[in-house]
Amino acid sequence: MTKGDLIFDGNEKQIFATDQPDRVIFRYKDVAVAYNNVKRARFKGKGALNNQISAMLLDYLNRNGVETHFIELLGENEQLCRKIEIIPLQVVVHNRIAGSLATRLGVEEGFRHPNTIVDMRYNDDDLEDPFINRDHAVAIGLATYEELDRMYDTARRVNDLLKPLFHQAGIELVDMKLEFGRATDTGAIIISDEISPDTCRLWDEATEERMDKDRFRLDLSRVVESYTNVRDRLKKVFES
Ligand code: 5GP
Repeated sequence: MTKGDLIFDGNEKQIFATDQPDRVIFRYKDVAVAYNNVKRARFKGKGALNNQISAMLLDYLNRNGVETHFIELLGENEQLCRKIEIIPLQVVVHNRIAGSLATRLGVEEGFRHPNTIVDMRYNDDDLEDPFINRDHAVAIGLATYEELDRMYDTARRVNDLLKPLFHQAGIELVDMKLEFGRATDTGAIIISDEISPDTCRLWDEATEERMDKDRFRLDLSRVVESYTNVRDRLKKVFES
């Protein structure tokens, strides 16, 4: 596998072409951004941690029948992935209400509810990732109803797999954002972005301390230490 041209240079990740048309290399940067790129900082080691955490989680999903873009780890900051055609939607699963949903619904952070909530945002920085429903998404040609059904079903399945996995690590999966794409090799709808403390809310079950990107968003300090803790706890679960 030969690394080719840089085809996407994002805030927190880069994507490189390879000598195979349906394969790309994701490179995770030591950068964090938040609030639609308004807040930005460097955290040495964050890229490697997200690369490792995402690899563990995506590999676990692949092994449990949920297709993802992840193929294999290539190095500290890089992983080999399937190439996809982007679907610009974020599917967010909530097990407890926090963050923007708490503000939107006027309930306190950490509000417990008996059901699993799945909602969807239009991934568009200029529009600040607005909430969008299925009819809107179909109307503007982002996906078909069948594809949306598949994304919602997969999001629930991912939650059913990852919630107990995090529980084994003493971590509560409060919410998570998933992105999907159409694999260029088979056309299947697959998970096509990282799953990591950058894209999930992860609270320590014993103390409710935040172990995710909210540490950066809310200036809670110990960002890399918390991500390291998540990596180490998950590693232990997979080794046992
Ligand atoms: P909220 O809507 O409260 O900002 O986010 C809900 C969940 O989705 C959180 O776990 C958050 O980390 C994730 N999330 C929402 N939007 C984004 C985004 O644009 N980028 C990333 N990395 N995560 C997001």
